[in-house]
Amino acid sequence: MTNNIKPALETPRQKQNRHKAMEAVKVLNAIKKEFKEPPKAMNYFYDLFEKVYCKQEALHTNKVKIGTMCIQIPSEIIYALDAVPLRLCNGFYTDDEIGSDLMPSKSCPLVKATVGHLASENFSDKPDIIFSPTTCDQKTKAGAIVQNFGYEVIDVDFPRTKESEESREYWRRSVRKFSSDMSKNLNKKLTKKNLKASIQKIGYAQTLYHKLNDFRKNRLVPILGKDMFLITNAFFFDKIDNWIAAVEELIEEVEQRAANQIHAGGKISPRIVYTGSPPIFPNYKIPLIVEQSDAIIVADETCSSNRMFNDRVSVDEWFLNDMIDSIADKYLKGCTCPIFTKNDDRIRRIVDLVRSYGADGVVYQAFAGCQVYEMEQRSVLAAMEKEGIAILYVESDYSPSQQGQLTTRVEAFVESLKNRRRMKK
Ligand code: SF4
Ligand code: SF4
Repeated sequence: MTNNIKPALETPRQKQNRHKAMEAVKVLNAIKKEFKEPPKAMNYFYDLFEKVYCKQEALHTNKVKIGTMCIQIPSEIIYALDAVPLRLCNGFYTDDEIGSDLMPSKSCPLVKATVGHLASENFSDKPDIIFSPTTCDQKTKAGAIVQNFGYEVIDVDFPRTKESEESREYWRRSVRKFSSDMSKNLNKKLTKKNLKASIQKIGYAQTLYHKLNDFRKNRLVPILGKDMFLITNAFFFDKIDNWIAAVEELIEEVEQRAANQIHAGGKISPRIVYTGSPPIFPNYKIPLIVEQSDAIIVADETCSSNRMFNDRVSVDEWFLNDMIDSIADKYLKGCTCPIFTKNDDRIRRIVDLVRSYGADGVVYQAFAGCQVYEMEQRSVLAAMEKEGIAILYVESDYSPSQQGQLTTRVEAFVESLKNRRRMKK
């Protein structure tokens, strides 16, 4: 893959496209070439990202495309109505810069990049309608900004607490309203049959993810975290049947790699659990630094990866209304985003991941401008200290400028974990 050549005359939009393609190429090249040989089945995902982000090829020309501003919009309902969900959370620095002109420059880079992307209209697949859950304040305000660009944006009310019965009922009502808004918009009927099929398909995709993820518990880890992030990010926009087929093929190969004792890391590479603001392609800055520093990300607690596949819809009775309520419960219970006032579930989940994946430490990334992740780091750090778990907290944004300083901090942390390992021997 080569970098795009700058044409003699280009419009601002062509220039943005070229910059985005260059960002994508740089990260894909690092993922493919700077590490030990990745599984061959990863080529499906490398090609997919190249098609969508370097060549801007459309994947869903004959479908209604539903843009979602956050993980909390139920894909099961979208697929059941024969539309496709496109998660709009964005990781491009080019889009972050465009977004900086449209909202406070100190805002979360993920939100700025999402707004910048929608303002620039540099799309492979353009959303027809956007659903915006009122999760974090910045996402909520971004929905209103995006509306000014001419998109139809529909808010989906989300509660601020998680545990209470009132919140559960509130969210169930929101999801019921979302289903009827979708049906009206698409002029299609949600039925017992199409919703059941969709729940089962997403459930199967979740099972595949966990099957693949389980290999990361092995002492010799057959697949690196940077590849896992790419696979889970592909779920934002890929054709679900293609994604399923590609992951099935990958599992077969990874199973073989595990049997052949292939280890993607070094001799004493520390094992890391990754948490915090979500890594979204091509902003893999911190995950790449971690793995370039000879550590392996064996698990994560982020909404761009593990959190998407965590809980399955649990249905007692396959009646339409029961299914919709069960979908609502899955999304509320499974969410560990710090937007909630209390968030003990997140700490429990991180500790559980550290124990079950035999991790040596945790890397916690917060995007500069994301107050909730910044604020929650104190309680997470205190909890990890109590559990005797080493943790590194890093604040980062999408700009390429911090690379040197971040590398130094991550390398020092990895080295300290290696020393602990050596002392244990
Ligand atoms: S960090 Fe929270 S609000 Fe932002 S996309 Fe993820 S789940 Fe949604
Ligand atoms: S990282 Fe923070 S500000 Fe950004 S979308 Fe997530 S919760 Fe909102």
